Amino acid sequence: MSSCCSLPVDEKGFLIEIPEENAQIPLRAKNACPTCRQKGKPVDTATVKSMLSVSLNQIKDVPYFFCQNRDCPTVYFSNDGLQTFGRDEVRERVYQKEPDMDDTFVCYCFRHTVGEVRTASSESQAAILDDINAGIKAGQCACDLRNPQGSCCLGNVRGVIKQAEKLVVATV
Ligand SMILES: [Zn+2]
Repeated sequence: MSSCCSLPVDEKGFLIEIPEENAQIPLRAKNACPTCRQKGKPVDTATVKSMLSVSLNQIKDVPYFFCQNRDCPTVYFSNDGLQTFGRDEVRERVYQKEPDMDDTFVCYCFRHTVGEVRTASSESQAAILDDINAGIKAGQCACDLRNPQGSCCLGNVRGVIKQAEKLVVATV
């Protein structure tokens, strides 16, 4: 009998998987991406289905997660860690994976790209935020089906604007 305090861990502190008779959950850090081991964000299966460019007969009836780690090629993974979908299996370029590409969408519903938001004047940036907010209010957005992260883009748009402001300050 092993106690919880004697579970084997590797040099990074991650549990090492050991086959155990009654183990139902693999000894992987909970919700961790099987590729990079960082914690993923729960995502609706509807999002995964609408974003994938591969046959959906691969979709299983299990929870899926979104890996936000920029340096990791995996976009979605199943909760059991046995299935991963990479960047080239997703229909859109994923903002979290390529946030510096000008033609990556940061707002997928109303089609605003990173380049557009970054290079816009502060008035135009405010107008873009107004445009997105108005669309949300009017019920026109479909973040769960359009945005690979499966949720609202506003935080990301604000992030791009903040970064652009920092660059302006740095170059003045
Ligand atoms: Zn990952």
